Amino acid sequence: MAYSYQAPVSQTLFDRASLVTPGGVNSPVRAFRAVGGTPRFMVSGTGPYLTDADGREYVDLVCSWGPMILGHSHPEVIAAVQEAVARGTSFGTPGEGEVALAEEIVARVGPVEQVRLVSSGTEATMSAIRLARGFTGRAKVVKFAGCYHGHVDALLAAAGSGVATFGLPDTPGVTGAQAGDTIVLPYNDLDAVRAAFAAHPGEIACVITEASPGNMGVVPPVDGFNAGLKEICAADGALYISDEVMTGFRTSKAGWFGVDGVRPDLMTFGKVMGGGFPAAAFGGRADVMAYLAPAGPVYQAGTLSGNPIATAAGLAQLRLLDDAAYAKVDAVSAEIRGLVGDALTKEGVAHTVQSASNMFSVFFTDQPVRNYEDAKRQEAFRFTAFFHSLLSQGVYLPPSAFESWFVSTAHDTRAVERIAAALPAAARAASEATA
Ligand code: PLP
Repeated sequence: MAYSYQAPVSQTLFDRASLVTPGGVNSPVRAFRAVGGTPRFMVSGTGPYLTDADGREYVDLVCSWGPMILGHSHPEVIAAVQEAVARGTSFGTPGEGEVALAEEIVARVGPVEQVRLVSSGTEATMSAIRLARGFTGRAKVVKFAGCYHGHVDALLAAAGSGVATFGLPDTPGVTGAQAGDTIVLPYNDLDAVRAAFAAHPGEIACVITEASPGNMGVVPPVDGFNAGLKEICAADGALYISDEVMTGFRTSKAGWFGVDGVRPDLMTFGKVMGGGFPAAAFGGRADVMAYLAPAGPVYQAGTLSGNPIATAAGLAQLRLLDDAAYAKVDAVSAEIRGLVGDALTKEGVAHTVQSASNMFSVFFTDQPVRNYEDAKRQEAFRFTAFFHSLLSQGVYLPPSAFESWFVSTAHDTRAVERIAAALPAAARAASEATA
């Protein structure tokens, strides 16, 4: 695909980066490999806008992959960071900020009686799995194809669609031993879960699921799916782990738990709770969390866990996220979903817009998407054309057809109007695209 617009400074930076960093990026999807072209190197963000190294401004529909729910450079978050940073950057001791952030999480999310702070979502899910195995004395883990839980060895197994398929290493570097206790099942299929438990009674430590998946595009759980998982786990003595790294404090004040009310045994958080800094957490039942060192035998630790700047940013952000803030994000999400759907319909492009509260994505198929196999059936080449048309008009989407789009309280009328103005040409480009 030829691009009619250029980003010379980003290209120069990418060339430099590629010499010293594998693929030129520090997280793969940033490299634009799925859509082609030059990844934009951003230099600043304000409200709903990002500015790249070439001086071009974009309406941001990625929001740092979820964290920036108040928009970029929110004055109160920046002030909290400045106030914290003036007191020092890391002490390696306990501090009041981490207590306050833990209290805020416990106060918001009913099933979280105790919480441990870590630095990334990956650390949170890795630690939750270890804790579940330590608590139950069992080895096996059930996960769902298309769900992403960070780059934890045992959780990178995503292939295999059959019932109770043992996950094989999907990536070199993950050994059969690391992935061999992972059972990968199709999402939204309780029969598959029942069959896996029937095949391995008393052997499964936990089921881990995205509370409402956003990593194969947005594919919400069908009615009763999460409740069914909880019930099946409880009947067998396994733990139900809800990964709310993406949905936590985004889909409601209490994340997806606030939407479906199903009480997990353990939960994981990240993204929004860090206010744009590396902060994440896992928590849940007090009797399970009591197994963690130093209270219990399951080891888990971190030099920068509960970092004072990260906790200050996270706390400032969470304290601003009241009912009115969620109502605002939900409303702007609905408005943009409507605009996208209308533009694609006008051009006769087959599509399905799916949402979970204010998270949403567009699948280029007219069939509902209930699992990863469905998601893969879309015409992703249309997304590529749609993406590049929007990018050239100053609208920044996730550079993949299999990711959630994110909005913020800062997405105001002007930002929405800019998106609306760009959509007709993007829909036309999607309609004219060829595989
Ligand atoms: N879990 C979910 C649901 C996620 O979406 C992600 C990241 O996108 C992770 C875990 C991993 O988090 P991190 O990238 O902070 O390691």
